[in-house]
Amino acid sequence: MRRIWLTGGSGSGKSTAANIFKKLGYEIVDCDKISWNIMLPGHPAYEETIAAFGNEILNADKTINRNLLGKIVFTNHEKLEILNAITHKYIIDEIEKSLAGEGKFVIDAPLPNRFGVKCDITIVITAPIETRINRLTKRDMIDEIYARNRIASQISDEEYKGLGVVIDNSGTPEELEEKIKAVIL
Ligand code: ADP
Repeated sequence: MRRIWLTGGSGSGKSTAANIFKKLGYEIVDCDKISWNIMLPGHPAYEETIAAFGNEILNADKTINRNLLGKIVFTNHEKLEILNAITHKYIIDEIEKSLAGEGKFVIDAPLPNRFGVKCDITIVITAPIETRINRLTKRDMIDEIYARNRIASQISDEEYKGLGVVIDNSGTPEELEEKIKAVIL
């Protein structure tokens, strides 16, 4: 399998899974990192986001305050759609650029592959909501409400599970590795 779309809700363990794929010889295309990079000053997504959300979302150094923007869009679906309409086209461009060459790639993405990126398989990482909230509050040092809002802004577990081959990550990272190997080797 040369191209794997790896998805799942926040805190499910996508990045942990992506690191396992890295050990197995895959290059990681990190969509979270891409979405950060395209929001930096100088990128067209930066200008478009400020035009849509106003200067109030800027830090003193003119970078976008991602936490504040997150608080706005994760509690207001319409605003999330506006932000998505701005950012997704740039994210897809960057994904396609990263896929150049003969290597094996795993695309670590919180979103389903709605963009027509050609992949051999979609793998969905899942874990119970409470486990995910616990992981997120620790990883990102955010409060529980923010973590719950972030999860609520994503597609539901049932929708994720319908996207492809489901791997449950409620056990240990070692168990996750064994399950991944069983799917792809
Ligand atoms: P995602 O990329 O889906 O948001 P991460 O892979 O970053 O999720 O995992 C969220 C947090 O939970 C990270 O701090 C990670 O180290 C931890 N984590 C992931 N999988 C496990 C696991 N099986 N057991 C314990 N902690 C885990």
